Parts: sequence; C-alpha cells; structure tokens
Amino acid sequence: MARYTGPVCRLCRRLGDKLLLKGDRCLTAKCAVERRGTPPGPHLARRRKLSERGIQLREKQRARFVYGILERQFRKIFGEAESRPGITGEVLLQLLERRLDNVVHRLGFAESRAQARQLVRHGHIALNNRKTDIPSAIVKVGDTISWMPASIRSELYKTVARDIQSKAIPSWLSLDMQTLTGRVVSLPSRSDIDTTVDEHLIVEWYSR
Ligand code: SF4
Repeated sequence: MARYTGPVCRLCRRLGDKLLLKGDRCLTAKCAVERRGTPPGPHLARRRKLSERGIQLREKQRARFVYGILERQFRKIFGEAESRPGITGEVLLQLLERRLDNVVHRLGFAESRAQARQLVRHGHIALNNRKTDIPSAIVKVGDTISWMPASIRSELYKTVARDIQSKAIPSWLSLDMQTLTGRVVSLPSRSDIDTTVDEHLIVEWYSR
C-alpha cells in the first residue's frame, strides 16, 4: 500500500500544528514547529483566514497525516465507516485506531506510527500468532499482537522491552510486559481515542 514518503515535519508546518509524527523528538526543542512555526515555502509566511470548507479540509488532512494514510485509502475507510452502524465520525476514528500499525504504536512497540508500520512491513509482528505484514489489517476484540520469535532476539526488541514500563497503554488494549504480547480487550470508544482530530468536520467535508 502506498504511503507518504516526504519530510513529515513539513506536514506539521503546513497545518501549523504538532502532529507528533516523530515520537520523542516531537517533545524536544528540535521540533520544526517550535523552531519555525511558519508554513513551508517562500510565499506562505503568513496564514490566510480559512473558509468553512478550508477548516473541514484541514481537519481531514490532519487525520490523514496523523494516521499516515493517503487520500484514496482514507476515502475508502470513510466509505466503510458510513456503511457501518453507529455515528459515522466515531466509527471512522475507531477503524483508524484498529489498524494494526496504530495498535503496534499504541502498545508502545514503536515510537511513531511510521516506525510501527515499518515493524509490521518487515515481518516482526504476529497477529494471533501468525506473521502479518499488512499495516492496514483491522484488529478485533480478542486478537493478540506479539513479536515473531526471530525478532525477540533483536536489539530492537530488547530496547522496547526495557523502555515499555514507562509507556501508557490505552484501556481498550492490554499488554503482558513479560512477553510483550498485546491483546484487544474491547473496541475503542470515542473517549478512549486520544486525538484532537474533530471527526465532525471530516464528516461535513465528505458530505458536501
Ligand atoms: Fe511534527 Fe514531530 Fe516534526 Fe515537530 S518534530 S514538526 S511535532 S513531526
């Protein structure tokens, strides 16, 4: 599946918002938004006042950038959210949260979703004890997420195992700290999803 491969700090500067796409670096003074809050490019030094449509578009882009999803795939996920029972905006966020790359990140196995995606793509992660290299796989209640046996011997695994104690795991997931095996205990409700994305604006954008 295609993904954005350009500089991610540029996305934050474009929206004038810290999207936290680079893990711990985002919390340091090296953050590009902290250093240069202006949009990228020579002609956009000042921000224009956004129209209603502009605000909706900006929010949709924000969600895309945060979860690392290209436009066509995001539109497809929105369509799926629309076809499912429930409040479309909340179902959309739930589907985004249930992606395997996001779950790997939320469990603390990777600093960022981009790193989590790479872990999955490189075959380090097992879903229900079977190697799964599809970052967009959607997890269900009862699924387990663990490391492949060969990856447990890696330096990366040892680093994660050492640092994981300090990570906060969302309540819809559980984690066995000894084996670094995560489990989906429930589907995430809106209050479980730690994001500032306003899903109502995304629904309005697609409802034009
Ligand atoms: Fe965004 Fe993080 Fe880069 Fe700052 S360091 S601009 S928050 S990705």
